[in-house]
Amino acid sequence: MSDLKDHKQLGQELELFFTTEIAPGAPFWLPRGMVIFKELEKYIRELTDAAGYLETSTPIMVKSKLFKESGHWDKFGEHNMYNLDLTEEEDKETVMYSLKPMNCPESTILYRFRPRSYRELPLRLSEIGRLHRREKSGEVNGLLRVRQLTMDDAHIYAREDQIFDEVSNILDMMINFYKSFGFEYEFRLATRPETRAGSDENWDKAEKELANAINKKGLKAGDKMGDGAFYGPKIDVHIKDSQGREWQLATVQLDFHQPEAFKLEYIDEKGEKQRPVMIHRAIFGSFERFIAILTEHFQGAFPTWLSPVQVMIIPISEKHLEYAQNVLEQLKGSNLRVEVDSRSESMQSKIRDAQMQKVPYMLVVGDREASENTVAVRQRSEQKQEVLKIEEFISQINKTIESKSQL
Ligand SMILES: [Zn+2]
Repeated sequence: MSDLKDHKQLGQELELFFTTEIAPGAPFWLPRGMVIFKELEKYIRELTDAAGYLETSTPIMVKSKLFKESGHWDKFGEHNMYNLDLTEEEDKETVMYSLKPMNCPESTILYRFRPRSYRELPLRLSEIGRLHRREKSGEVNGLLRVRQLTMDDAHIYAREDQIFDEVSNILDMMINFYKSFGFEYEFRLATRPETRAGSDENWDKAEKELANAINKKGLKAGDKMGDGAFYGPKIDVHIKDSQGREWQLATVQLDFHQPEAFKLEYIDEKGEKQRPVMIHRAIFGSFERFIAILTEHFQGAFPTWLSPVQVMIIPISEKHLEYAQNVLEQLKGSNLRVEVDSRSESMQSKIRDAQMQKVPYMLVVGDREASENTVAVRQRSEQKQEVLKIEEFISQINKTIESKSQL
């Protein structure tokens, strides 16, 4: 276990991402890291589209008064946000702006855009939002603890009798998602903290709903007494990575407070005004932190569907370059991420380098392959080679990618 590398080292070696003192706590994404970021984004969009979410986007910078109304200013702490005095000449008083530390208050502005009917509920608004949190410079750590993060966020506005189904669906989505990375997962119910907003009656109701959703799924949940958000209880999901370390990533939170604070309403069947409940949820929390965890979990050997380079074509000598190029075009035509190692190094050292770069598939091509229209396939973790027709290889690798297999 001693030669395990952390995500910062792997991020540099594999050219995925890095941080530098010019922007503490805010990563620079290199093209290969961005491939992973975009694949995750695609995956989470597939899941949310299938579950009836509607994607939105809200401003990064808004007037600070919004966070005073929501209660975040007092509870989250103005010192944990980036606040800017942007008073213009024509302004009569100081106008303070903040970079949003979370998406929720602005999500309620989307909800309030026009009157809402019970027919629209549950209204599931998702947002892949970029947030800023003022972590101390001594506490930022690679991608694990950052000042700028991108969250796979969503807010669901629902009637009280819809809470159970909504929370159940979210738990299913989480289980699906975590299984596809080979993580073990565990749920924890975090209950009311000492300082909190909202009535005890609402807290009782909310805690009961969450416990119900967990129990009826037959899931076991540990307790995190007093660890809820200030506006409501939550279910946290903890995962275990390949090294046995535990991480808290996903969360579902029930919130009766912000609908009150922002006077959210919908018109019910009888034409009367009712207050919806708000459910906050993230499946993996932040892209930055999750990619850090994935990088360490896989030690850079990402499954094929996530790998920045999926296939490296290795011509045995220069005279096989033309055929290698031909194979490259065919693979690119099938939307594979593929490169040719055209350096005049030995075949052995090209294989070694591709293995160092954790490329899942190496295709060695020489005289025989060129004359038979085949490729000698070598997987990064195996010694043996298998000769396949190009179409056969394409269909195999596409199956591996589509199924999000661990290979
Ligand atoms: Zn929220």
